[in-house]
Amino acid sequence: MSSFNELISQVDGPVQRPGDAGYDTERSGFQASYRHEPSVVVGATGVDDVCAAVRHAAANDLPVAVQSTGHGLAVPTEGGVLVSTRRMTGVRIDPAARTARIAAGTRWGEVVAAAAAHGLAPLSGSSSEVGAVGYTLGGGLGVLSREFGYAADHLRSVELVTADGTVRHVDESHDLHWALAGAGGNFGVATSAEIGLVPVSRVYGGGLYFDTAHVPAALDTWRSWVQTVPEQLTSSIALIPIPDLPMVPEPLRGRYVAHIRVAFTGDAERGEELVAPLRAIGPRLIDTLAEMPYTESPSIYNDPTQPHGYYGTNAMLDALDAGVPATVLDLVGPDAPVPCVVQINHLGGALARPPAVPNAVAHRGAEFLVRVLSVVNGPAPSVEHAAPTLLTDALKPWTIGRSPNFVFGERSTPEQAQTCYRPEDHGRLATLKAAYDPANMFRCTLNIPPVRVAQPS
Ligand SMILES: Cc1cc2nc3c(=O)[nH]c(=O)nc-3n(C[C@H](O)[C@H](O)[C@H](O)COP(=O)(O)OP(=O)(O)OC[C@H]3O[C@@H](n4cnc5c(N)ncnc54)[C@H](O)[C@@H]3O)c2cc1C
Repeated sequence: MSSFNELISQVDGPVQRPGDAGYDTERSGFQASYRHEPSVVVGATGVDDVCAAVRHAAANDLPVAVQSTGHGLAVPTEGGVLVSTRRMTGVRIDPAARTARIAAGTRWGEVVAAAAAHGLAPLSGSSSEVGAVGYTLGGGLGVLSREFGYAADHLRSVELVTADGTVRHVDESHDLHWALAGAGGNFGVATSAEIGLVPVSRVYGGGLYFDTAHVPAALDTWRSWVQTVPEQLTSSIALIPIPDLPMVPEPLRGRYVAHIRVAFTGDAERGEELVAPLRAIGPRLIDTLAEMPYTESPSIYNDPTQPHGYYGTNAMLDALDAGVPATVLDLVGPDAPVPCVVQINHLGGALARPPAVPNAVAHRGAEFLVRVLSVVNGPAPSVEHAAPTLLTDALKPWTIGRSPNFVFGERSTPEQAQTCYRPEDHGRLATLKAAYDPANMFRCTLNIPPVRVAQPS
């Protein structure tokens, strides 16, 4: 046993229990409907604090959850130790090696800015607010991913505190490297990660918004158009019921819109030619397609930045025939009883190829990713919770699996987590889990329970 007072004496950052001042702030993040309910939250300031928190949990047989920004809260903890990494920020760029060393709590915006100073870019996603480490450990589907693959494909090494409280340097020669790149939350607390960068400093990109009447044409045109584009072009389409709120730009306010998002690393002239069929869909409520520095890439998706409550799941599809848009519009279109945001990402290209260093990212044969979100006002099951699953259930004929990064608030079971991995990889992950976390301390995530392989007698 290790007491609360012993833990406080070992940690530089704040250590709080329910009812303590600061406890609620420390455990809160971007997700406003679910919160971790730990018996202790440790505001870690560095590796030593993380080691102390993990050893305290091990000595008291408690689960450990990790939170940096709270964007990806999939499985809230009830009791146990929450390690909050928000104070552990910072980026070190090695321009010659084209790598960045990122502390656990660093958001993409900071990494993108630091890399841009050297004409480089990380494989960041749609939002500058998302945590770079959590995103990468879950795969990381980025703005440039059809050209360069998943962020996890560029994971060089991780400094990891495992369940026994020791710090391990996990590089490509370590058996955990394969598992951390794609199933990362299950094996310990990453205190920092080293990632590869790509020589990109600008893109031609942005978004086209179409009004409700043009939504079916936008879906249909985009679906055929993606079959014609080069790998240097990554795109997605979102169907969004936009709230009628003063902070929303007037042309979009209160409308159900299609938002096509594009990022192309080729020159702007070629980019303009490539997007011409999209512009021909009809009048655009807003058209932001233009040459931009990579630092402005978050404007392409224009993700919300205010914390709110959301529930979400996803389906990775092997094809997008006409049945998919029809199913989407039927179940979660403009007339749906529960408003849902649906995003469809075009995959393929480098995402479909095995990475230079193998990893646990699965379903590389998927051509499309469908993500569906509803806004929820609390954790209790409601019709808003049921709506996203209604869609993913209906998409089962096309579905080959799920992506771990786009599961929000599910309280998922191990069976549901299993859909994020190839069956043969799931077995290997479970064996690694038994070797490094036999008590399943790191279970407040899409959990892979440990499975011990019987030794020959
Ligand atoms: C608005 C928005 C935009 C997004 N855009 C994209 C996108 O473009 N592409 C994409 O792939 N994903 C995207 N995501 C999903 C996002 O990548 C995942 O939700 C990711 O888990 C967020 O990581 P975080 O650290 O910010 O979140 P947190 O909620 O703080 O952490 C989520 C989980 O990550 C794990 N984790 C985090 N840090 C560590 C650590 N240091 N050590 C071990 N485990 C850790 C834990 O399991 C934790 O529960 C988006 C999510 C939102 C809400």
